[in-house]
Amino acid sequence: MELVFQDEPYARRCEATVVAAAPEAIRLDRTVFYPMGGGQPGDRGVLHGADGTRVEIVDTRRGDGPDDVVHVPAEGTALPAAGSRVVAEIDWQRRHRLMRIHTCLHLLCAVVEGPVTGGQIGDGRGRLDFDIPEAALDKAEVTAALNRLIGEDHVVRPRWVTDAELDAQPELVKTMAVKPPRGEGRVRLLEVEGVDLQACGGTHVARTSEIGPVEVAKIEKKGRHNRRVVVAFAGD
Ligand SMILES: [Zn+2]
Repeated sequence: MELVFQDEPYARRCEATVVAAAPEAIRLDRTVFYPMGGGQPGDRGVLHGADGTRVEIVDTRRGDGPDDVVHVPAEGTALPAAGSRVVAEIDWQRRHRLMRIHTCLHLLCAVVEGPVTGGQIGDGRGRLDFDIPEAALDKAEVTAALNRLIGEDHVVRPRWVTDAELDAQPELVKTMAVKPPRGEGRVRLLEVEGVDLQACGGTHVARTSEIGPVEVAKIEKKGRHNRRVVVAFAGD
């Protein structure tokens, strides 16, 4: 399956051929739908048939292999026939908000010093958990630092490295909860120019200014070591 979202995160739709269709899993030969992973939720959207039929997709998940994407149709939907042509279209408003929050979490990694132990991206807000027992984090300071990086309009771009190159720089895997997939020979990095570089397979905006103003909604103590930092769009 061709993963269009990897190189074209702004692609809202693509033409595709249905490879297989079952009540809980539709597979295409190519897709713009991002499957849940790395803390980012799976996309929602619609598969438009050539005859005007609509198949609502309520979730997208990873399947059996690294390139296998499973589109989950709404319950009771009439399924498209294998071999038929569709236009796969994501709910772009929702995805773009997820891309903005996701990119903001990369900035948060740069602002807060310490290993990341978990993370979650949601619509309009996201969080990272840091293993920093002693640090006194200040909401206003972190908010100001994030908005400064957003205002500086840094370029955001993916970059591929080989497994061997990644092994030579283990600090690149500070990651939102998951290790990058190995064994394919190459690993995708996400670079926020001059700010952050780490392994990440998600979707991001192209420049930090596109995130828009944010605020730290709360900083929670989760156990002796963990500090949970929740960011949200300002004024949302
Ligand atoms: Zn990312």
